[in-house]
Amino acid sequence: MADDPEFTDPMERPRYTGISTFMRTPYTEDLSGLDIGLIGVPFDAGTTNRPGARHGPREMRNQSTLLRKVHQGTGIAPFDICRVADIGDAWVQRPFDLEGGLEEIAVFFKRVHDAGVVPVSAGGDHSITLPVFRGIARDRPVGMVHFDAHCDTGDDYLGSRFHHGAPFRRAVEEGLLDPRRTIQIGIRGTVNDPDVWKFSHDSGMRVVTMEEFHEMGIKGVIEEARRVAGDGPTYISFDVDGLDPAFAPGTGTPEIGGLTTFEAQMMIRGLRGLNLVGGDVVEVSPPFDPSGNTALVGASLMFEILCMVADAVAARKAS
Ligand code: MN
Ligand code: MN
Repeated sequence: MADDPEFTDPMERPRYTGISTFMRTPYTEDLSGLDIGLIGVPFDAGTTNRPGARHGPREMRNQSTLLRKVHQGTGIAPFDICRVADIGDAWVQRPFDLEGGLEEIAVFFKRVHDAGVVPVSAGGDHSITLPVFRGIARDRPVGMVHFDAHCDTGDDYLGSRFHHGAPFRRAVEEGLLDPRRTIQIGIRGTVNDPDVWKFSHDSGMRVVTMEEFHEMGIKGVIEEARRVAGDGPTYISFDVDGLDPAFAPGTGTPEIGGLTTFEAQMMIRGLRGLNLVGGDVVEVSPPFDPSGNTALVGASLMFEILCMVADAVAARKAS
């Protein structure tokens, strides 16, 4: 039994056994020698409505144990071409202090970035992507392929400018995100102000509403995303509410008429070959997800993103 590969390699063990890590990768807080770190960010102090995304990383770790090692659609085997580990949570010591908490998260991601490790993260609400950028984009702004029902380029709301509806406006203002290399896909839903996403348009972001997504088709939107991102460093941020709530009901601000899981998979696969420098899946809220399906969907999209990022990291290492 001891020499059965099921028992000598942890990833070959039955998937329902052991302590849950992201995709059954080894857990380590030692960053040396790693290419990609899988990170939880259990923080939802930026939530404007239904909370719970702080519980996202733990449930996504659990559901991610259903995943296997090779990406069926592309043949990419991320754990063969890169050294990947679960490097734990960017947890904060002051969770009731939104801006202080975000700064603590930034310190974690800066340490990861300085160690040469590329982050693929599970939120948390979407406010956490701002401190990810503070950690990885200080030396040059990144571009972004952003899936979401919302542009998240709002401003002050109930006295805060750092809630989960505003991170990408702050990121542009801080010089971390290049708006002309940013595309936002899946935008829809009711609004209080018809001009709520004015900043996206004014700053030069490419906004693809769900209506336009269906007019252009998957291939057309992939082409557009590749054109906008170009060959500069690019980040993928996937708010699970970009999906239709039929597929991902467990989230804070669901909007009907969204992406299917398959459309999301095909879109992410279409980003292969971009100069990817990280990604995240945010806004999975387990308290609104009694079946666990949203966490499974989130973990599966995290694997899709991991495969594209691993392919990019391997290409950079080879060049
Ligand atoms: Mn959203
Ligand atoms: Mn969002």
